Amino acid sequence: MPPDTEDCQLSLPLQVQAPMPDLPAADAVAGRLRRVVLGGQLCHFRLRRARRRTIGFQIDDQGLTVSAPKWVSLRAIEEAILEKERWIRSKLAQWQDWRARHGAHRLHWADGAVVHFLGEELTLKLRAADGSAAVRVGRELQLALPAGASEAEVRALVQDWFRHQAIRILGDRVNLLAARGAVRPYTWRLSSARTQWGSCNEDGRIRLNWRLVFFPIPVIDYVVAHELAHLTELNHGRAFWHEVERLLPDFRAARDQIKNEELAALPL
Ligand SMILES: [Zn+2]
Repeated sequence: MPPDTEDCQLSLPLQVQAPMPDLPAADAVAGRLRRVVLGGQLCHFRLRRARRRTIGFQIDDQGLTVSAPKWVSLRAIEEAILEKERWIRSKLAQWQDWRARHGAHRLHWADGAVVHFLGEELTLKLRAADGSAAVRVGRELQLALPAGASEAEVRALVQDWFRHQAIRILGDRVNLLAARGAVRPYTWRLSSARTQWGSCNEDGRIRLNWRLVFFPIPVIDYVVAHELAHLTELNHGRAFWHEVERLLPDFRAARDQIKNEELAALPL
C-alpha cells in the first residue's frame, strides 16, 4: 500500500533567507537536494528521511522539503510529489511572491546605505581611520573600515553599534518609565528574537528587542510600558490596558505604528 501524504500549513519565515537557487552546493553533494520535474519546470527539494509512517510536505522560504520513511523508494516519493503537484506549485508561488516583496527590504551594506535610528535616517560612511569602530556624526554613521570592506564587515559593525545604543537607550527608558510608574522589573535584557519586540515572564524578567532602536522614542516607550504593565497583569485584559495607560497615557499612536512594522522584514 502506498504511503499517505499530508499537507503542512504555510507558515511565514522568521527571517528572510536566500532563495532556492542559492542553496549551498554542499547539500547537493551530500545527496539531500534532489530534483523533480513539476509542470514542465525543474523543482528542487530536500529529502529528509524520518521515523514516520507517511510522506510529509513542507514548503517555506527554503523551498520544498519532503519527509519520508526510510523504506519508501525515491520513485515512490517522486510519485507522491506529482500527486501533490497543484498544492506544491501554489505554495511555492506564494513564497516566491513573499520573497519578491520582502527582498526589496534587503540592504546593500556599503558606503551610502541608509539605516534607521530612533526614526531618523543615518547614512553609512566608510572611512579608514583609527579610533572608534563606529561613531555617529550628525546624520552620518561613520565606520572605521576601508573602502573595500565586505558587506558582511559593514553589516557586523553596524549591528554592533546598534546593539550598544540599544543597551543604553532601552535601559534609560526602562528606568524612566519604571520610576514614573513606581514599578520595578527584576531584570531586563536585550533580545534578538525575530518574533517579538519584547516579553515579560512571571518572574519579572523583561526582554526587549535591540531592533527597537530603529524606531522613534514614543514607539520604544510603548513597548517598554507594555512589558512593564505585564509585571502586574500577565494577560492582555482590560486591567492590563489600564496599567499601560497609567504608565504611558499617550500610547495609542505608537501601538498602531509598531503593529504595522514587520520584525522579520527589518534589514538587520
Ligand atoms: Zn503583552
